[in-house]
Amino acid sequence: MTILSRRTLLAGAASAAALPSFALWSAQFARANTPQAGKQAASFYRYKVGDIEVTVLSDGIARVPVTEAFVLNVKPEEVNAALREAYMEPGVFIGPYNPIVLNTGNRLVLIDMGTGEANYIATKGVAGQLLTNMAAAGIDPKAVDTIIISHYHGDHINGLLRADNSLAFPNAEILVPALEHKYWTDAGEESRSPTQRIADNFKNVRRVMTNPEVMKRLRTYEWDKDVIPGVHAVGTPGHTPGHTSHVVTSGSHTVYVQADVTHAPFLFARHPGWHAFYDHEPIQAEATRRKVYDMLSAEKMLVQGFHYPFPSVAHVEKTATGYREIPVLWSPVL
Ligand SMILES: [Zn+2]
Repeated sequence: MTILSRRTLLAGAASAAALPSFALWSAQFARANTPQAGKQAASFYRYKVGDIEVTVLSDGIARVPVTEAFVLNVKPEEVNAALREAYMEPGVFIGPYNPIVLNTGNRLVLIDMGTGEANYIATKGVAGQLLTNMAAAGIDPKAVDTIIISHYHGDHINGLLRADNSLAFPNAEILVPALEHKYWTDAGEESRSPTQRIADNFKNVRRVMTNPEVMKRLRTYEWDKDVIPGVHAVGTPGHTPGHTSHVVTSGSHTVYVQADVTHAPFLFARHPGWHAFYDHEPIQAEATRRKVYDMLSAEKMLVQGFHYPFPSVAHVEKTATGYREIPVLWSPVL
């Protein structure tokens, strides 16, 4: 076996250049000066859970500055050290968004929907990519018959509406967690908003979820029951009061769709005790996170994470200090 090092690579390049016939030999090959693509490829990925076909669709990313307010119980220096450990740029947190579509054979189901077309325009395509990646994946938004929502944060609901406020998925029934809907549409709860961020979220929920066309199609679902056959709702509160995960099962195969039990795993699965600013009830969110991740690692269960790096499918393992995610290998066939 040849061990490659910078030195052997440089020596190889030098000896190739020294060969008198090199120019003649290389002239036989195309030197077409192909223009660079200059843009990313469409971002969708498919896998099977038993008979169910899952398509992961990137909605792009957000860039969040790492300030004192980013993780409530940890200093920015510690967050930046963890970013460096994950080979990421310190000072800025990159949060991916990854909604999924399930084709169960008789239903086309979208679970959560990213930040919406208006955000695609505002961010010049950095986020809000769901509809463009759906088009690239050959999925017609009009063919989506069921939408399942995990919780009422903007990055999970805003994609219900297009930039002109019309429905992005006009033929879909919209299934929402009963507790989550009750909390965010309660005027009394709104009047007690503990932070400006939560007050703003109430306003956004009113804009999106109580849109008359959304209301016409909306039905609530309960925890510990099947939302539709093959998709079971599990209460995972803390991130929001009614935050819900979904266990997707077909035959002996399962994937745990964890929504925001952890945000991006390279920070928040590895440091489950960190309280990110988006967790509504940080202590409850941490307890939920540890309970779910203990289960996922003990059961060796496949996990789909909305804010995991694309295509956001992994297994998780318990470590001395938290958990670590092991992404699945890209499969070239289904
Ligand atoms: Zn989220």
